[in-house]
Amino acid sequence: MQIQELVPLGPRTTMRIGGNARYYADLQTQHDAEEAWQFAQSKGIPMIALGAGSNTIFADGSIEALVVHVTAAAIDVSGNTVRADAGASLATVVTTLARRGLDLSVLTGIPGTVGGAIFGNAGQGPQGMWIDHFVQTVVVFIEGEWKTLSRAECAFGYRESIFKTWKNPLLWKVTLSVPSRAAGDIERDINAFLKKRSVSQPLTRTAGSCFKALPDGTPAWKVIEAANLKGSTAGDLQVSPKHANFLINTGNGTFADARTLVDTIRERTQTPLELEMRFIGESGSPLK
Ligand SMILES: Cc1cc2nc3c(=O)[nH]c(=O)nc-3n(C[C@H](O)[C@H](O)[C@H](O)COP(=O)(O)OP(=O)(O)OC[C@H]3O[C@@H](n4cnc5c(N)ncnc54)[C@H](O)[C@@H]3O)c2cc1C
Repeated sequence: MQIQELVPLGPRTTMRIGGNARYYADLQTQHDAEEAWQFAQSKGIPMIALGAGSNTIFADGSIEALVVHVTAAAIDVSGNTVRADAGASLATVVTTLARRGLDLSVLTGIPGTVGGAIFGNAGQGPQGMWIDHFVQTVVVFIEGEWKTLSRAECAFGYRESIFKTWKNPLLWKVTLSVPSRAAGDIERDINAFLKKRSVSQPLTRTAGSCFKALPDGTPAWKVIEAANLKGSTAGDLQVSPKHANFLINTGNGTFADARTLVDTIRERTQTPLELEMRFIGESGSPLK
């Protein structure tokens, strides 16, 4: 495992926003994770995990942390039991399983890795299905120790998991139980889901939904649209004219622009909208 210094994080996020990681490492094995953690301990900095960066942006300066990315990406199938490494792409898992008649089609079109999906319990909206529906166990590295958690212990909720309340967990592997269905039917649903998304979502530099739905289930886009904020800008950041809960980077947008736009949205909607996107500050901690 190689630890690099001052690695640009912008290119590692779908929104292309962020300064440099003070330290950065790709992790292929559990031993790599242990070594990386010891390095971060010796420097007195946090070790923070980054998946595909499809829900994350970083502060514009130097992030005083060791940013790690799990490259282990195996997918093992045995009957209806699927073991996937945290670095596997969720889209690859969905399509690989579909060919074998295993149905994860409700997770179609969600960019990112298995690790990112477990961390934020990725899925459909508050009323829909989320990845936790399929989870049996999760292997996680926390404070220098390996743990295996049952689904109940993961305390999943709408875009929530216990991992969000822990200090810098590293998700490593998940075991899923996936129902069988005819491969052709699954493929048809996958295509329909993809088509629906291409109509409703911008296909550009974005990190997906910026805010969670309100506790009563009202989608954030409705509140933002009602305040006439579609198309509003701060620097090169814009509230997508196509989907009001997506912020898009139209050029050289910065973290500061994104924060300004979030503040404007909260002020103009007069609603304490909770972030779904991860805004990671210079200390490596998420901002609210
Ligand atoms: C066009 C678009 C559409 C989207 N649609 C949806 C949708 O329908 N539903 C939905 O839920 N999301 C959606 N998203 C958001 C995003 O795809 C999900 O949140 C996804 O699960 C993030 O995965 P990632 O690997 O990119 O995570 P990252 O953005 O890299 O990380 C997100 C968080 O997870 C943590 N994390 C990542 N990997 C690990 C790991 N191995 N161990 C510990 N923590 C980790 C990071 O520290 C960070 O806090 C969309 C995004 C885009 C750009």
